[in-house]
Amino acid sequence: MSKHPTTIIAIDGGAATGKSSTSCAIAKSLEFLHVDTGAHYRTVTFALNQAGIPPKDLDAVTEGLATLNLGTSVKGQQAFLSVNGYKPNDSEIRSTSVNSLVAHFAAIPSVRKFLFEYQREQVKVAQKKGFKGLVMEGRDIGSVIFPDAQFRFYLHADAETRSLRRKKQGQEDAIKQRDAIDTGRKDAPLKCPEGAIVIDTSENTLEQVIATLLQIIRNQD
Ligand code: C5P
Repeated sequence: MSKHPTTIIAIDGGAATGKSSTSCAIAKSLEFLHVDTGAHYRTVTFALNQAGIPPKDLDAVTEGLATLNLGTSVKGQQAFLSVNGYKPNDSEIRSTSVNSLVAHFAAIPSVRKFLFEYQREQVKVAQKKGFKGLVMEGRDIGSVIFPDAQFRFYLHADAETRSLRRKKQGQEDAIKQRDAIDTGRKDAPLKCPEGAIVIDTSENTLEQVIATLLQIIRNQD
């Protein structure tokens, strides 16, 4: 497959593997736009949940999605998804209820389809806003959204490290359950994309992980 003309860095991995901090730092360092697709699924979950739609009611999910108009705002290095003109804040999309619902909504093919084009279009946002490229993090970026990305990384950390990280962040999060649902779903499951570079973040500090990725990117670019 020929590579995408804009430099794209895809960073995938399970919950609390260090994706967000790493992606954010890399985007800053390289003057790239940072897009957190986990936040996309969280925002859609927040909106559908507010409309009283449960993930098991697939018809209601399809109808609910049709009422959502997606928009993008950029602050600093980061792009944010808004729904019907509203950008929910962190406490809304990282609440206990969104934590427990998001993987269920994300497993629904119509929800994934709904976000597919929006996520691909983020390259244009990066170009329009004058960024040098795009760093996109998620579960299926290197496998489904941008299999043509120049750089595809897969971050991994052991279970103990990950649960400690979430506790330090003061978040109640069912990491194991989310990972089980994300890995087991039929549509775009969480997996290491073929040919991606695997980075184990358990034994390394955030600074070491960032330095490793930057070195790989700078050496190959
Ligand atoms: O990255 P974060 O942990 O915030 O993602 C929340 C959830 O969104 C994941 O557990 C997963 O169910 C879903 N997700 C996804 N595909 C992505 C990004 C996130 O299914 N590309």
